[in-house]
Amino acid sequence: MKDIQFSRRSDLGSRIDVSFEFFPPKNDVMEARLWETIARLEPLAPNFVSVTYGAGGSTKERTTRALARLSKESALAPAAHLTCVDASRDEVDAVIREFAELGVRRFVALRGDPAEGVGAAYRPHPDGYQTTAELVAALRRIGEFDVSVSAYPEKHPESADFATDIDVLKRKVDAGATRAITQFFFDNDVYERYVERVRRAGIYIPIVPGILPIHNFAQVAGFAGRCGAHVPAWLADRFAGLENDPQTHALIASAVAAEQVLDLIERGVDDFHFYTMNRADLVFAICHLIGIRPRAEEASIAA
Ligand code: FAD
Repeated sequence: MKDIQFSRRSDLGSRIDVSFEFFPPKNDVMEARLWETIARLEPLAPNFVSVTYGAGGSTKERTTRALARLSKESALAPAAHLTCVDASRDEVDAVIREFAELGVRRFVALRGDPAEGVGAAYRPHPDGYQTTAELVAALRRIGEFDVSVSAYPEKHPESADFATDIDVLKRKVDAGATRAITQFFFDNDVYERYVERVRRAGIYIPIVPGILPIHNFAQVAGFAGRCGAHVPAWLADRFAGLENDPQTHALIASAVAAEQVLDLIERGVDDFHFYTMNRADLVFAICHLIGIRPRAEEASIAA
């Protein structure tokens, strides 16, 4: 069924690209949910779908399995996240070649966080790629890959200031990255100001907003705190008191994500990366709203 080509959509949807991010499942229940999610989202014909990579290669086996299945059983273009953490250059290069053999042509190149967790001091492996820019250069040397990198509208927590942060992005672009995907954010003004800064620094690659639909506000708020993303008071207020009311929480979450995405479209954005959290419902609804519709209802992945 690999040759199914899905196409879309309404007038608005035909102008918009999307990509979806998944994490490799930890157990059979999560695995079943992931493939149900993929089956539901596949007919939306995303530009690519990416699979994350755990600190120090801790998810390598699971990431590999997910990429292999995507490659073999779906019409989707798989993208592999890859980090520099706790691995020598030879080890990283071997992973790149292994993924390439599975049919992976797209990578999201990252420095990664220390295995001890976000907040611990990052130390590059003595024989490893010292920076993400070096990893990007290695990917470009090894194959004809499409390489995306991260970008931080609120700057990375380790960056002293925006100038340093954007300099890191510039080095990644100079090394061959052709797209940046942002950390999630909830204030579109922050994204717009960031893109202006990036353009002023002479960086012209797409800065694709990373959209995180809020399945669980308390979890998202905790995670945002760790990765330097600001949760505005108005957003916290919208979810206040809904801890034990999942139905209303879900309705509010879809309204919040819809508002954010529609506003970004009004500001000229035409490419979105969704952090799906391996769940289809909110992402599917937002895509429907912006005109991205399945043409063939049947996905080639059997859930
Ligand atoms: P970089 O962009 O290379 O650098 C981040 C910051 O580190 C810089 O802004 C700067 O503050 C500092 N820095 C780096 N190099 C230098 C230097 N030479 N001099 C001074 N300061 C420097 N993590 C995972 O483990 N697995 C994943 O699959 C994953 N996927 C992600 C996908 C996206 C879209 C995003 C936005 C993040 C993802 N992360 C992932 C998280 C990411 O690994 C962390 O945010 C990590 O802390 C930084 O990695 P990076 O590639 O963004 O770093």
